[in-house]
Amino acid sequence: MRPPQLLLAALLVALDAASARAQAVLSVGTASAGPGETASGVIAVPAGSDPGAEIPVSVVNGTKPGPILALVAGTHGYEYTSVVALPRVLQRLDPKRMSGAVILVHMANPPAFYERRVYRNADGKNLNRVYPGKADGSQTERIAFAIAREVIDKATHLVDMHCGDGNESLRPYSYWQISGDARLDAAGKELALAYGLDHIVIDRERPRDPAKSQYTANTAVLRGKPAITVESGGLGSTDEASVAAQEAGALSVIAQLGVQDLPSVRVEKPIFIDRWQVLTAPATGVWRWGVEKMQSVAEGTLVGRVHDASGKAVAEVRAPFAGEVLYVVATPPVTKGEPVAMIGRVLEGEPKP
Ligand SMILES: [Zn+2]
Repeated sequence: MRPPQLLLAALLVALDAASARAQAVLSVGTASAGPGETASGVIAVPAGSDPGAEIPVSVVNGTKPGPILALVAGTHGYEYTSVVALPRVLQRLDPKRMSGAVILVHMANPPAFYERRVYRNADGKNLNRVYPGKADGSQTERIAFAIAREVIDKATHLVDMHCGDGNESLRPYSYWQISGDARLDAAGKELALAYGLDHIVIDRERPRDPAKSQYTANTAVLRGKPAITVESGGLGSTDEASVAAQEAGALSVIAQLGVQDLPSVRVEKPIFIDRWQVLTAPATGVWRWGVEKMQSVAEGTLVGRVHDASGKAVAEVRAPFAGEVLYVVATPPVTKGEPVAMIGRVLEGEPKP
């Protein structure tokens, strides 16, 4: 019989080997990082009836196991703050000090970025409405399919990073999605608080069918992974305040998940928006907006008027209820049925999921 000390030593060696194995190589597209490594590469989206794409990604893989956070930038082509922020986030990450991993999707939609497209790709589709995508669909659907398989399926948590599109003047806020699953909803609230944007829109309207998840974050949630959508910046700008908020929020979520010790910007006094409406243009024409982002409006406040090209007013948009202007279209073109503003009502007291 072997002395107990030797048995114990053998057991410890075995346990050590098991924990060393637990953090495996993490591969996303061509980016493959072993424990303690950082790698960059691309997710190749093959060409179909229209051109393909190469989605640039980085993988930072810790030495110890833990959550795998996906940060998704640039879903919409004219939204730049997240695309500028993620390389800054990457510089702050040290895989030797990490438990878990971070997947950085630097630019989810390169064709829309390089073609400077607002809302939709050349196939007429909005990447944040076509999830879970299709392997044999058009360009936008194939991009969604690739991100769902390579990023969402490999992550445990996700932040989809947006701002106002090229035409939208927007105040910073996040969406906290209520799915009806108490564990996911509590974890989603923690992500939203950790991101540091004090206005949090409570979103109860996302589709519940995983085959028609539409949105990046909703696809993650319907696959059991806590996820939020965040908004900071707009109008095609890369102003430092909006970029810094994205960088600080991403680092704070990494800290909150225990992946790496980094500064927290957790919201202490959140302002929850429990009722909100996207107002749409009643007519196509030349928009003259009458409100600014962050402005409080009363019910009936004039949000803006649509004019014809000769300058005659043809329609107007008014606030349907009192609230905050979350964003307003602040460039002249408007098309009937498309958004011109989003108004949100501030919740008094604590939200009840
Ligand atoms: Zn967007």
